[in-house]
Amino acid sequence: MKTDIIKILKCPLCGGKPLKLEAVVGLYDEYRDGALLCGTCNYSFPLHEGIADFLAEPSPEILEEQKASSREARIKTEDGSEFFINPETIEKFSKLFLSLPKGDGSYFFKEGGSFQNFSEGSHRFFDLFDSWNIKPGMKVLELGAGFCWASREFAKRGCEVVAVDITDYLKVADLYLKNGLYFERIYADMDKLPFEKDSFDLIFAAATIHHSSDLDKTFKELNRVLKKNGKIILLNECFIGIFEKPQQHAADFGYNDHYYPIWQWQKVVKESGFSKVKVTFLSFLKDYIARKESRGLKAGLKLKLAKAIIGVPLIDKLLSIVLIPHRIFFRPRSILIEATK
Ligand SMILES: [Zn+2]
Repeated sequence: MKTDIIKILKCPLCGGKPLKLEAVVGLYDEYRDGALLCGTCNYSFPLHEGIADFLAEPSPEILEEQKASSREARIKTEDGSEFFINPETIEKFSKLFLSLPKGDGSYFFKEGGSFQNFSEGSHRFFDLFDSWNIKPGMKVLELGAGFCWASREFAKRGCEVVAVDITDYLKVADLYLKNGLYFERIYADMDKLPFEKDSFDLIFAAATIHHSSDLDKTFKELNRVLKKNGKIILLNECFIGIFEKPQQHAADFGYNDHYYPIWQWQKVVKESGFSKVKVTFLSFLKDYIARKESRGLKAGLKLKLAKAIIGVPLIDKLLSIVLIPHRIFFRPRSILIEATK
């Protein structure tokens, strides 16, 4: 943690500010270990390995999710050995983490590999990134930053980034800090963010907000910390078709995934004070191709046809439009939500 961020921090328990930093500078020219003290309620938020922990009095859902991730998340090697995500594992597999989300083409990113989800979905982020008008100096908050690969991309563009998560996956960021790229990391509840109002130009989240059990509360909080005309960009959230049965897969592992229909997302975002809400149905053909290619399967007729269609963007777009009702009612697939305050 560097001192610049203190300007926008406030106590998530009582709203008190400024917080007093009691720590010493260590690695990577940042404060690594110590505490942030709230002068109003006297709570001391620990700072450990550069990450301030604002998860004081975490909700039962957060505790459950932290337990699930420490229980379920691990790296499996080809010979069947398993490594839980911890600093040693991060160091041992640093090359893999640094290559996220696309991957390095190794076993881990292919069918059945621990990082398959990342490589399969990575095209969505990179296809869209340039269209978001990212400029140096922009203040970006990433929620559910996990292994921090998106925060890394924003930081590479010169943005001032704060990566927030509830798991210690944030420690992966040390791999970037080591290479001279800096961004802040913070443990916090997205419903009780430790930031002043009007702090950020952009909030980005990939597959995060659907963990909220109260979308209304979450979006009001996002709206609060966002500057006027600031944007939220949500990618890879979970949706459910109006006539679709809820998929319980992830919830079975205690991850608190909630599948909301598209209309509910739109309604809540609008009612939380955002002026414009845009829902984009992303090309399911691109997803299909990425999925097949990352699995290294032989190109069959369907894959060739899909590639021929996306070669003609107009047809791809028309096909996407024609299938919107099907996606609203039965199977939404990947959708982008953007909203402006
Ligand atoms: Zn306080």
